[in-house]
This record gives sequence, C-alpha cells and structure tokens, in this order.
Amino acid sequence: MSSEPVSGRAFLGTALHTPVRGQLELLRDVLIVVGDSGRIEAIHPRGSPEGESAAKRHAAAGTLARFGDGQYLLPGLIDLHVHAPQWPQLGLALDQPLEVWLQTFTFPLEARYADIGYAEAVYESLVGALLANGTTTALYYATIHLPATQKLADICLKRSQRALVGRVAMDHPDQCPAYYRDASAAIAQAETRALIAYVRSMPGNEGGLVRPVITPRFIPACSDDLLGRLGALAGEKGCYVQTHCSESDWEHDFVLDRCGVTDTAALESFGLLSRHTILAHGNFIGDDDIARIVRAGAGIAHCPLSNVYFSDAVFPLRRMLGHGVHVGLGTDIAGGASPSILDNARQAVIASRTLESGVDPLQGRQQRRRESSRIDALTAFWLATAAGGVALDLPIGIFRQGYEFDAILIDANTANGNLHLDPADAPEETLQKIVYNAARANIRTVWVGGRLVHTLG
Ligand SMILES: [Zn+2]
Repeated sequence: MSSEPVSGRAFLGTALHTPVRGQLELLRDVLIVVGDSGRIEAIHPRGSPEGESAAKRHAAAGTLARFGDGQYLLPGLIDLHVHAPQWPQLGLALDQPLEVWLQTFTFPLEARYADIGYAEAVYESLVGALLANGTTTALYYATIHLPATQKLADICLKRSQRALVGRVAMDHPDQCPAYYRDASAAIAQAETRALIAYVRSMPGNEGGLVRPVITPRFIPACSDDLLGRLGALAGEKGCYVQTHCSESDWEHDFVLDRCGVTDTAALESFGLLSRHTILAHGNFIGDDDIARIVRAGAGIAHCPLSNVYFSDAVFPLRRMLGHGVHVGLGTDIAGGASPSILDNARQAVIASRTLESGVDPLQGRQQRRRESSRIDALTAFWLATAAGGVALDLPIGIFRQGYEFDAILIDANTANGNLHLDPADAPEETLQKIVYNAARANIRTVWVGGRLVHTLG
C-alpha cells in the first residue's frame, strides 16, 4: 500500500456539466480530487487505476464522499445580479413601473441599512437562502452605507460563499432622494476606495473568495463627475464594475436625453466598460453597443424574471450570444421575485420562446414572431453555470482540473422534492428534468471551494 499522505477531499459519483454551449458532458462514476486550496486537482474516469487507489486512500482517511443512484453533482449556480438589501421586498410592488418602484419602495428600504443590526440580520438570511438554492457565486449590490456593505462581505466570507460585493454609488440630486444619496461624488469615490481596501485585506480572504466591485447604481442616479471618478478608480485598482444598462424604455431614453448617447457608449467614455464589467439587463442595446461590449469583453447579467416586470421587452438572448457577448443569469432580487437561479433558467427558456413566437395573437403569425430566438434547457443550464464563470472571468462553472470545486448535489430521493429520475433516462433527459423540475428540496448539498456550505436539514 502507498504511504503517500492524503490531503484535500475526494468525491465519487456521477457529474453533469456543460463546458461549452450546447455540449452536455456526463461524467459517470468519476472521482474528483479536490486539493486543500479548494481547486480540482484531478478527475479520474471510472475504473482508472489512479482513481481507484486515490479513492482507497481517501476512504481510509475519511475524506471520501460517495454518491449513489438518483444523485448528480452539478457545478454551483452563478447569480450575476443580486440587490442584497432588497431581500425583504421580494415579491412586492411588482406592478409598479421601474422609476416608481425605486422612488416609492426601494430607496426607503435601502436607506434602512444605515442600521448595521438590520443589515446583518437581512444579509445573514439572504446568503443562507441563496446557498440553499445552490448559488455558490453571487454578484451583489449593497447600499450606499460602507459599514453595512462591509458586513455583507464579512458574512459571505464567514459562510464561504464566493461573492463580489459592491457599495452602491449614487449622488445625482435629481434622481436620488435627499435621505438616500451620496453627499458628494468625492465621498462616494472615497468610500468605494475604502471598500476595495477592506475586502482585499479581510483576514481569511487571501484567496480572493470575496472581491470588491465598483458599483455606480445606474447612469440616471450618478453625476458625470461621479462616473468619471469611478472609471478612474476601476482603472487604478483593476477592479470589477457592475451597473444597470439599457434596462427599460424609461431608463434607456433617460440616458439618451441626458448624455446624448446610449448607456453603453457613456459607460465606455467614463472608463467603466472592461473585461471585468457586468451590465445588468441590456435589453435595449443596439448593434453599436454590442460591438462595444464585445470589444471590451464585458458581460451581461440576463435577468429574465425581473425583465417581465420592469423591462418592457424580452432580452434578445440569442442575438447577443450570436455576437459573442458573454451572458450569464441574474435573479435581480428583488426586481425578480425568486432567489433561485434555476427558476431564472426556466424563465430564460420561456422568455426566449415567447420572443420567438410573439405575444399578440391579433398580429399575424409572421408579424408577431422573431425567428431563431429560442434556447433550450441545456443552454439555460450553461448560462447558469459555465457562462456565468466566463462572464466573471473566474475558474468556476465546470468540472475541470484547476477550476474551483463549487458544486451542488442534486438528489431525486429527498423528501418534498419534485424530481423523478429514471435510470433509463438519457443524460440530456436527466438534465432537462433537473432544469425544469428540481426544487430547492432536491439540492441536498452545496460546496464552495471544496468546503461544505449547505446541507439539506
Ligand atoms: Zn438591478
């Protein structure tokens, strides 16, 4: 017997992932070896001598997890757009137009995060709920409050959720109420700089599990001075950027009126469009904007549930993918009324089918349809995992040597689940059933960087 010391952990079972759009890979009875770093060190196929000896070593050391029938390892789900402070209003005021929803409901709620105790209670609840829904990576907007934003970063690190966290910057007196806005562009810039320093130096965050994000709320809420300062900071710090972009008729037209150009062109001119920029929504971006986004390598957070309520249109997903835009999925809590990326994957399919068939039966068939718009469940799953990882430029979303072991275990045998998997199902059928039917109660276990972060109670 080998006396080689055992480090890390190993996972023996069947895995499903989509490394490339449209390509499902079934890894049957593989052994995935994860190092102490949390990254995948090796994936041994069934029956390989190396795999068998590694499995024996890990079994003897008590570091082998073994999965059985009806259980599938999937990459963890990636949420590219979450407003953490809006968790308490999930499902409320969805009948309001965006600008009313913000001024009447959302800004008063976000102002409450001056109270650090309130922030802590909400953020603990949210991070726990997202992990239970299989979200292993989340891109968060917090509020304008630096201490509460730091608290969100603390909680993500403590609970080992991979997270990108932004302190919202918004200083424009015309669009931001006096009770909830940055007192000046200089203060917003200074506090954003302070958040970057804080997150990058958190003890225990040496591996970069939690990262800071420069977060101008959206152009209407920010002065040109602020946008310029944040763009300069993004260049100086090599930081992620997130903002909203061409979300609705009102928002898109507002920016055209004020800036004389689209959101995307304005963001580019302020230095806010880069490989590490994620634009939420992007429903109304045109061909020139697509070219700008592709040139920069920026990504789009497609939020199909939120779009139903606030965006006035269906996101032209296939068109974006066809141009090579990086796209992933976002819940847009609380614009979208579900914390589940699986729910949004389903809605992404539905939205694409709606765009393809059209919505108004009084229009003729050819007038109401937009050809070649549909996606399938496989593409939706790819968006929720691998594509989200590409958009973030992080080694997550697939099972591959050198990638983080961020994973969920789907289990068809749990109580209160919605899955009936048949051993005779083809791999594509298994994945379709998971995408369309899996409930939160089917997510038995969740790992981030090889660490257990949630298990079904
Ligand atoms: Zn949003």
